[in-house]
Amino acid sequence: MKYYSTNKQSKAENLATAVIKGLAQDRGLFMPEEIKQLPPAFFETIKDLSFQEISLIVAEAFFGEDIEKEVLKKIVYDTLNFETPLVEIDKNIYSLELFHGPTLAFKDVGARFMARMLQHFAEKEGLKSINVLVATSGDTGSAVANGFLGVEGIKVFVLYPKGKVSNIQECQFTSLGQNIIPLEIEGTFDDCQSLVKSAFMDKGLNAQLKLTSANSINLARFLPQSFYYFYAYAKLAKQGIAQDLVFSVPSGNFGNLTAGIFAKKMGLPIKRFIAANNNNDVFYQYIETGEYKARPSTATIANAMDVGDPSNFARILDLYKNNHHDICQEISAYKYSDTQIEETVLTCYNQHEYLLDPHGACGYQALKDGLKTGETGIFLETAHPAKFNETMESILQKKLPIPQKLQVFMKGTKKTVLLSKDFETFKSFLLNEK
Ligand SMILES: *Cc1c(COP(=O)(O)O)cnc(C)c1O
Repeated sequence: MKYYSTNKQSKAENLATAVIKGLAQDRGLFMPEEIKQLPPAFFETIKDLSFQEISLIVAEAFFGEDIEKEVLKKIVYDTLNFETPLVEIDKNIYSLELFHGPTLAFKDVGARFMARMLQHFAEKEGLKSINVLVATSGDTGSAVANGFLGVEGIKVFVLYPKGKVSNIQECQFTSLGQNIIPLEIEGTFDDCQSLVKSAFMDKGLNAQLKLTSANSINLARFLPQSFYYFYAYAKLAKQGIAQDLVFSVPSGNFGNLTAGIFAKKMGLPIKRFIAANNNNDVFYQYIETGEYKARPSTATIANAMDVGDPSNFARILDLYKNNHHDICQEISAYKYSDTQIEETVLTCYNQHEYLLDPHGACGYQALKDGLKTGETGIFLETAHPAKFNETMESILQKKLPIPQKLQVFMKGTKKTVLLSKDFETFKSFLLNEK
């Protein structure tokens, strides 16, 4: 399979190159030239398959031409070795809990998958040392750092905005050591993201270092996220209630939502999607007006969604051939302020004894506001509420237990490097680390 760039200015590449490069030469995002339909027989039997079995079939449709079946199976099975419960919260509203992996957020899926696939291709191409650059507003950094921890031949630089990620999140990538190098940037998440983008475009740097990205611009990270849409469908199909299925997706860079659109294009019977935004509502505004206006991000209590120029928007435009009307047919959008998010968390907890994290709260509320009669709604519960402990405790006015998995990180020693948002400083730092 070849992968073309959404900017259509550079040539199509094979899978190994697309995964190793992350971003195309022309700064576009890689897209597969073909999206394979899965056969009807698959959908007839899906309800009796395990998450790993389903994922392997979907992974083969994406990557089967370019990677040996046994290798792919190992990558899939190693990646998805934790629970993904589908919990009924409210009438016709289900929470797909994607937070039972090592860092308690959905990004574990893509990060673990990508780490294993990148390592496979690096070995195959004889590459000795690869540098992964990742910009994070919190969860990406921890998932990627933990997904790549100890992977030989790969160094990971985690760029995060000073003072804008929660204490627990910071511990998850600053306490690891080994091949993980945290960089605290004096700026916003968008500044971190643009440092990463500039690094990829810098000829001098790329001549000396093999750089790649582990943000959801890398297709090995975002495509595996389509697996759990199939799995959630299978669970509802087993109960005979998978008709008129609506997925509500708390969105930042739109990797998750884009993976859902891929699932739908492969034949998964999803009726439509809802994108839930916080105050960073460029996508919501695009749906409302047809105009896309990127702008600097603002800080909210759902900080993993604080994105002012979502990178995967380019993929969504590409999938719908730039047609605003077609996009609106399949995706609607809602936006929530911090106050609304707080109210949702509190109300849902009081009415259903279910603890939503601030991101999942946007997804849940968007279903409450947008689900129509006869539809079944699933929202992606993207992180464990304990990752946002300070926010949760201030909303609920009570102490919450911290899961064992998180306590382990908090016991470690924090180690980080403070850098300005100036590109030249960042560049010399990378070159010195060589
Ligand atoms: C990353 C993240 C999101 C946003 O996901 P995208 O794929 O970037 O849209 C939502 N919630 C949480 C908890 C996240 O970590």
